[in-house]
Amino acid sequence: MTRLPRYEVRHADGRRLWVYGEKAPEAGLELPDGHRPPATGQLRLDELSGAWVGIVPSRNKRPLTGDRRDREACPLCVGGPEVPFPYEAAVFENRFPALRPDPADVPADPRFAPARGRCEVVLYTADHDAALATLGAPELLRVIAIWRDRSRELWADPAHEYVLTFENRGEAVGATIAHPHGQIYALDHIPPIIATRLASLERYREAHAACWYCAADREPDASERRVWETEGFVTEVPFAPRWPYQARVRARRHGLRRLADLTAQEQLDLAASLHRLAASYDRLFDGPLPYMMVIHEAPEGADDWHLTFDFLPASRAPGVLKIRGSVETATGFFVNDVLPEAAADQLRALGEQIEALAPADPFTVEAVEQDERAVQIAAREEETR
Ligand SMILES: [Zn+2]
Ligand SMILES: [Zn+2]
Repeated sequence: MTRLPRYEVRHADGRRLWVYGEKAPEAGLELPDGHRPPATGQLRLDELSGAWVGIVPSRNKRPLTGDRRDREACPLCVGGPEVPFPYEAAVFENRFPALRPDPADVPADPRFAPARGRCEVVLYTADHDAALATLGAPELLRVIAIWRDRSRELWADPAHEYVLTFENRGEAVGATIAHPHGQIYALDHIPPIIATRLASLERYREAHAACWYCAADREPDASERRVWETEGFVTEVPFAPRWPYQARVRARRHGLRRLADLTAQEQLDLAASLHRLAASYDRLFDGPLPYMMVIHEAPEGADDWHLTFDFLPASRAPGVLKIRGSVETATGFFVNDVLPEAAADQLRALGEQIEALAPADPFTVEAVEQDERAVQIAAREEETR
């Protein structure tokens, strides 16, 4: 069995670039590329909330000239400054990172900490006009293999306590570049919302002698909020979503805590689930739906934690954005205008339409299983360890 090839090269400023796929760069190529801004960032402790805040003035020097939505001005297209040669998919260390493995020194004061960590950018494809929703089965399985590859290395680094893989899609959520891409942040501490989730799972275990995720399937009204399911994953609207049309793709198997734990079959199930939800979103309103997608992997020692993809769309109606206003931002108390059960009905119907419109949809699990190349990409990635 052959592998999903991975090549590592470096920009002249020292940043690493990993290229995945059949299109190989010249071995050992050093990319002649501009200088990297010096490390100036620091973390400061907000003592009133207990949260660390990254203060990173060098990020303000990001070049924002030209319309970066344009293919011509796109820094992520083939021939651009990040990947100057033809590629299929790639990951590179962010040129303007909030966190770095070599952070600047900070004053000897417990309210300061070095801005230590890593920030990487994941290029799903070289196709500027693609999206998570339009990637074919082999491409989406390749993205999953890349997420697995990078997150495994970042989790293995003792400098990191939490690794978050995510995507900001659309200008409404701050994506200044239209090219389909996501990011990965590796943090040296557990951020507050994740700490709250950990504590909630522990409380649930103590009260019910059970794992909350395993019990989620048995909630009496769970089926009303269910959008779709495969053997490996459930797609559902949460019981108390903060965002209209928020949905999650939740692993069913206890013990599937991180991307690295996915079996080949679960990768196929996940690809099919992500495709169906992303494609449904883009049919919900008038065109590509802006969203935040976050992959929740388990922190160290969190046994009651199932791998979950949370999708937080920024729209509540055609052309109407859900803005996080004063109350939400200042207190964490959210008000959502859409009934979760109704949102689930809409997303479920859209998913059925997608299936009906394309009876030969390559994302039915059975069809993907026939795609030997896709299965091999998943399996090859295992071998690269
Ligand atoms: Zn592009
Ligand atoms: Zn469980």
